[in-house]
Amino acid sequence: MYPILGLSIQGKHTETTLVGAVLELQKQGMGIMSGLVLFTTFVVPAMELSGLLFVLLPLKLNKKIRGQAAVFRLIQALRPWGMIEVLMLGILVALVKLAHMATVQPGWSLWLFGAFIFVMAATAASLDSEEIWLRLGRRYPTGTKANAGAGYLSCHACGLLARASPENMEQHCSRCGGALHVRKPNSIGRCWSLLIAAMILYIPANVLPVMSTSSIVGAQVDTIMSGVVYLWMSGSWPLALLVFFASVMVPLLKLMALVVLLVTVQAGSRWRPLDRTRLYRLTERLGRWSMVDIFVVTMLVALVDVRPLAAVQAGPGAIAFGAVVVLTMCAAMSFDPRLIWDSIQDNVHTR
Ligand SMILES: [Zn+2]
Repeated sequence: MYPILGLSIQGKHTETTLVGAVLELQKQGMGIMSGLVLFTTFVVPAMELSGLLFVLLPLKLNKKIRGQAAVFRLIQALRPWGMIEVLMLGILVALVKLAHMATVQPGWSLWLFGAFIFVMAATAASLDSEEIWLRLGRRYPTGTKANAGAGYLSCHACGLLARASPENMEQHCSRCGGALHVRKPNSIGRCWSLLIAAMILYIPANVLPVMSTSSIVGAQVDTIMSGVVYLWMSGSWPLALLVFFASVMVPLLKLMALVVLLVTVQAGSRWRPLDRTRLYRLTERLGRWSMVDIFVVTMLVALVDVRPLAAVQAGPGAIAFGAVVVLTMCAAMSFDPRLIWDSIQDNVHTR
């Protein structure tokens, strides 16, 4: 509701809220990008909050409502897409960039978002999903000590064990309703296709401008890399390093890591499975931080609208870059890390 940042240049003042920034992108014809920003910073946290309330409140009152398990499964699947903390980093970068050309005032929402991140992290830390699953369903053994070789399947969402049906038919978890399979279906094919799409888009994401600035002194276009160089030249090198790592290194390392994982799994390699599993986990966790540049552009577009002095417009590179982040996140999610171990444990039952 309240402004995140305010900006004054030579007596002209602008300020923006989160939703205001999304609408500004929409106005510039950046519908996909504004949708992505709205989804990751507003829709997902809102769904997470209302979903948790829907699951926890009846449990507190010792009641059960239909659909609680499905909702809990949904909010756990949505969690990686909530990116408020990445947005905060984006706001910080925008603030540093703007501080050189104008007076920037942090708004109420900036502090409120800070508090929100803290409280949400505490919520996630104190939420014991195992406990919730036990209360939502009957007491079944979970997948921790089980062996897939004994003809059991463990649910991806809640960890409940189910006996694998002898026929190769589709099975659903009796507790949360999630689909059950020994390994994620078509994991390798799906991962490759998303990965190749991401690789192709990685080129326009880095070559095309992510934003263009027009001011009375002239126009300037910025790619991801020139944005990093600008931060470096203006003396904020810690931030330059951070942005370089998040938006240049992380996507590149992610693409390479997934290629290594896919190739080794397809070759049936037995090479350092533990390290490869760690690599997978790292890839899955770091990926979302690449969104930071998308949020920087969003904030700059919304704030720097002091015509005729200066105006910032989002460029096509930003859409390609956002697509790379989303595609690599989906690729990492569709990869099944259990495939790494299949060639090592020959006795494990696989399809
Ligand atoms: Zn389940």
